[in-house]
Amino acid sequence: MSAERSTIKERAKEALKDDYLRGAVKSTTDRLRTNKLASQEALGNWEWWRERGRQIRAHVVANLDYYLSQLAENVRQNGGHIYFCETGHEAVKQVIEIAKRVKARSVVKSKSMVSEELHLNHALEQEGIEAVETDLGEYIIQLAKEGPSHIIAPSIHKNRHQVAELFAETDGKEFIPSDTQTLTAFARAKLREKFMTGEIGVTGCNFAIAETGSVCLFTNEGNGRMVTSLPKVHIAIMGMERILPTVEDLEVMMNLLPRAGTGQKLTSYVSIITGPRKSGEVDGPEEFHLLVVDNGRSEILEDEDFRQVLHCIRCGACLNVCPVYRQIGGHAYGWVYPGPIGAVITPLLNERNDQYQDLPYASSLCAACYEACPVKIPLHDLLVKLRARNVEKGRTSRWEKLSFRMYRHAFRSPKRYRVAIRLASRLQKPFLRHGFIQAQLPILNGWTGARDLRGFSGESFRDRWKTLQNVLEKDKG
Ligand code: SF4
Repeated sequence: MSAERSTIKERAKEALKDDYLRGAVKSTTDRLRTNKLASQEALGNWEWWRERGRQIRAHVVANLDYYLSQLAENVRQNGGHIYFCETGHEAVKQVIEIAKRVKARSVVKSKSMVSEELHLNHALEQEGIEAVETDLGEYIIQLAKEGPSHIIAPSIHKNRHQVAELFAETDGKEFIPSDTQTLTAFARAKLREKFMTGEIGVTGCNFAIAETGSVCLFTNEGNGRMVTSLPKVHIAIMGMERILPTVEDLEVMMNLLPRAGTGQKLTSYVSIITGPRKSGEVDGPEEFHLLVVDNGRSEILEDEDFRQVLHCIRCGACLNVCPVYRQIGGHAYGWVYPGPIGAVITPLLNERNDQYQDLPYASSLCAACYEACPVKIPLHDLLVKLRARNVEKGRTSRWEKLSFRMYRHAFRSPKRYRVAIRLASRLQKPFLRHGFIQAQLPILNGWTGARDLRGFSGESFRDRWKTLQNVLEKDKG
């Protein structure tokens, strides 16, 4: 189903029909969530670390202009180049300009959600430049011509059989799905060729450190190291908010991000890259470029109601606990970022696109995302604010407006409320079975389509209280 033409409700319905997807997403998110709880327990004082993380991120976002200029100065001092790109289009143009200047035909990439936001691979291919994802999960979904369905586990929805089929299509050989060692060895061999021939390495940036002008990458497969050390040019792309003031602040994030994301004490590789190769160093790129991408973030920064969403460190923990994401997976959200963070940031980054404004309704508002978030972003509050904004901007249906007008009218006066309840209890009678509305009613279909709705009681609490009082008084007498 095309995301451009469908609603979240329609895409969710499609996803719910896919039993494999639901099983795979549930088992992986269960595992990630259990690991997270164990590792935060092992660290101790988790709430202290969370609060420290929140303070650091809030401080950076409140002083972003200062830290961005400090970062820029230090990147230049280290011999690197820094570019501020207002739009995704500008960022893509910059990458292509660098690629053309160095006559690159092949780009190797380490995982980067911002580059997904920019549709960078597609743009490079249009210029005749091959772009190869080297994170295993990203490589799999690139072969499948799909986007990521989880922030840190992009191919969460694919099983071994599907992966074996994809590899067979690539190589013309048969693969045994249960032989995961051969599958992994195949990907490793293919990617090694690409590492050796790639002229440019493109990475994301988990954090940029303002005081040193460095970028920091958390990875588990070692591909990030290859991408940043073998090609002669390294381009790092970051959302403009992904800054930390100092290396000490990075220590806090090192404790929070891997634990919240996968339940690891630390990812297998933590790379801190400070500019291009210096004289006397044996490896590293000849050129280092850092692209700082705005792409709608400045507007969020200006908005006090939603600024907090820029505190996000993209750990994916909110996805793993979300009762909606766990049922429908990531593609149903229709854009790059899935889950609760996606339901907040997608409508904000695409403010002028009505297509994504229904995402805040993909939530039960249970606040499990807030409890899971290592930097305490109150996503459930932001979802409510986005819904309110939809109402203010007239993005709600006529039915919804009418229902809430009637609801408000009835609840403003005790008399009207009593009349409304009595009327509802009479009107429901033809549909009532054993105290539940069991028929599918057009306006209540969201409830009655999949479950029974408890019927209105014919008697209000006040009426019942009166009867009870009479009984009590009789008993006393
Ligand atoms: S909102 Fe919080 S839990 Fe979700 S990805 Fe961002 S930092 Fe992680």
